[in-house]
Amino acid sequence: MIPLMNVSRQYESIKEKMDQAISRVLYSGQYVIGQEVMAFEKEFAEYCGVKYAISVGNGTDALEIALKACGIGAGDEVITCAMSFFSTAEAIAAAGATPVFVDCVRNTGLIDTEKIKERITENTKAILPIHLYGQCADMDRINTIAKEYKLKVIEDAAQAAGAAYKGNKAGSIGDVGCISFFPTKNLGAVGDGGIITTNNEEIYRQCMAYRVHGSGLNGLYTFGKINNIEVSEDRVNFGGNHPKYFNYVIGKNSRLDEIQAAILSVKLTYLDEWNSKRREIAEIYDKRINNRTLSKLHVLSENLPIYYVYILSTEKRDDLRTYLQKNEIGSGVYFPLPIHLQVAFKDLGYQKGDMPNSEYIAEHTIAIPMFPELTQKEIEKVIKALNEWEP
Ligand SMILES: *Cc1c(COP(=O)(O)O)cnc(C)c1O
Repeated sequence: MIPLMNVSRQYESIKEKMDQAISRVLYSGQYVIGQEVMAFEKEFAEYCGVKYAISVGNGTDALEIALKACGIGAGDEVITCAMSFFSTAEAIAAAGATPVFVDCVRNTGLIDTEKIKERITENTKAILPIHLYGQCADMDRINTIAKEYKLKVIEDAAQAAGAAYKGNKAGSIGDVGCISFFPTKNLGAVGDGGIITTNNEEIYRQCMAYRVHGSGLNGLYTFGKINNIEVSEDRVNFGGNHPKYFNYVIGKNSRLDEIQAAILSVKLTYLDEWNSKRREIAEIYDKRINNRTLSKLHVLSENLPIYYVYILSTEKRDDLRTYLQKNEIGSGVYFPLPIHLQVAFKDLGYQKGDMPNSEYIAEHTIAIPMFPELTQKEIEKVIKALNEWEP
């Protein structure tokens, strides 16, 4: 079986360094927010080209915390795309706001920027585009609209670590970026993890507060922001007690473990190489898959994508899945049900037909094996099987 994704081959390729990193943490006796986390945050901020990076427990928390740090909560609306992983919209709801869905463009899966303005109301506070499949949304257009209507831009870069738009890394283009380190993402931990990136100190300080129970000076700072009052941090006296026991806003416990940070530090040094490898494989697929019943995704000229997944679309998607299965080739569907049709959001009142392109993608696309360690032989087998498929 050729897997759709495979993370153990990656482990084998850097086993010694990963084992060393894990053992270093185990011996250190510090397992939560210590040197490894602080070092990794610094490395990642530098890699991404931003001033601040705040690591958190997972990509979903990254989104929720980033939204809250942008001052978004009850009564607010956030415009996002119906074609994404559920948690994009779940995070908006968890922050207390309402997700407002816009359809995607059919041949990219990216938010249709032509349809954003018509969904803006006086309650709209932010646009949350998704860099789906590892290529950035049309960020110039989104930033222009955001500027005109004074909205924040939160990038869901969960599938796009290291991708670039006009030379700028995903996560550095809006006001704040959110990245997931779920094991099968292109920069994956060995468990859950996520990170928030920003150049904005106000957002940074509020993210720092929300990830640890709204406590300490960052918590007090956030309290001041929420209530629109001046707080004098230099006059706070914790009476000799640890600031973490003084809580100013309701936050979360959402931290990256030291072990995950140590592993991610090792992996980050390989990320560009792995992303290039993904692009090489995609180029081979682009050139050599020539079955006329299969269409490929369009890549915007501004983008340097990282191919988190490689997507094909076809009228007979489910037949193709069965065929690939029979040929011992893994495949996946991203995602089988667009968010506006998820039961969890039924109260928002969307109907089938509201987002035709998202619905089309949900029913007609398939992801084929894509990870840097795919062998030439496996790539050949995938191409051959696809080219021989007769729907
Ligand atoms: C994976 C993913 C997330 C959530 O990340 P987790 O780390 O699994 O919480 C959010 N948005 C998109 C687009 C994703 O692919």
